[in-house]
Amino acid sequence: MTATTKKALVCGAGGFIGSHLVRRLKAEGYWVRGADQKWPEFSPTAADEYLQVDLRDQAACDLALSLQSGPFDEVYQLAADMGGMGFIHSSECAIMRNSALVNINMIDAAAHFGVKRYFFSSSVCIYRDMKPGEPELSEEQAYPALPDNEYGWEKLYAERMSLAYERRFGIEVRIARFQNCYGTEGTWIGGREKAPAAICRKVAEARDGGTVEVWGDGSAIRSYTYVDDMVDGIYRLTHSDLSGPTNIGCPEYVSVDELVRIVADVGGKRIHIRHVDGPVGVQSRNFSNERIYSTGWRARFSLHDGIARTYPWVEAQVSALGTTPDQTATRARFPTW
Ligand code: NAD
Repeated sequence: MTATTKKALVCGAGGFIGSHLVRRLKAEGYWVRGADQKWPEFSPTAADEYLQVDLRDQAACDLALSLQSGPFDEVYQLAADMGGMGFIHSSECAIMRNSALVNINMIDAAAHFGVKRYFFSSSVCIYRDMKPGEPELSEEQAYPALPDNEYGWEKLYAERMSLAYERRFGIEVRIARFQNCYGTEGTWIGGREKAPAAICRKVAEARDGGTVEVWGDGSAIRSYTYVDDMVDGIYRLTHSDLSGPTNIGCPEYVSVDELVRIVADVGGKRIHIRHVDGPVGVQSRNFSNERIYSTGWRARFSLHDGIARTYPWVEAQVSALGTTPDQTATRARFPTW
């Protein structure tokens, strides 16, 4: 590290988006410290230094921020107790307690350590439910607030807390509200996986002409953003002058059934869908990207292109583990409180 090398701390560096972000920051020439309660599962970290710490503890946040050469230029806060709809509906107390503790302690520590810029990963789960065909919601239309689940309420609280610290301490805060993100090296089994990874796994496990189960009636509308695009959005937003929350998401919206058809097409299989009871979440999504577009960001990967990169990776995990649909039918490996 030289005197001019930029220094970044990535909290949640052992997770899906965090581990990809570390790689991007390294490619941009940063010195990077990763912090997480676990190591990355699928490949070695690209970080220069890595701390395995529980960021719910104030002392762990202080340790992660301590650097002899002065405060970090940038802190990226992506650590969260996190998962897909199955997890969000089963673990609401764990989410509200664990993620809030990380967020409360990290923004406070970052402000006191004199960090220049703080990125916080929020979610479009902070918005209310929408009807199919409704016009786009812009960032201000998060209020009056009515998130569909406690994960969204916790994110909204953490957004507001970061902004309060920006006002009182002068730390520059950048907040992204992510749409669903998917890609290689994301959770694909175990109960925390999100819809794209779960469907890739189910299709990989199915025989040609077989059936996959989909929670709900398959009509819920979502947008899915490939991880390289999300990381590019994080990087551009953090280096922009956009204060206040900013949506980041691919403008391509599809139903869950359409997602299954795209995965089956990429997998080269004829697949039937069986709709079964399960947590679905909101009915529809449609968000403005005007703010993130002002940074020059655009989604470069269509859903088909992103799945074409993701499916072979999930398929390889399925082959390596030799899983079958019966074995992987979601069995919770997370707190049900
Ligand atoms: P992830 O679960 O893969 O990564 C989160 C990481 O945080 C994990 O590695 C986990 O070990 C770590 N963590 C959790 N509690 C911790 C603690 N107490 N101390 C230290 N580390 C802890 O999730 P992700 O998909 O990479 O998401 C990253 C961020 O983006 C999260 O804040 C998430 O809420 C947000 N987000 C993700 C999506 C998505 O589709 N993936 C969508 C909206 C928002």
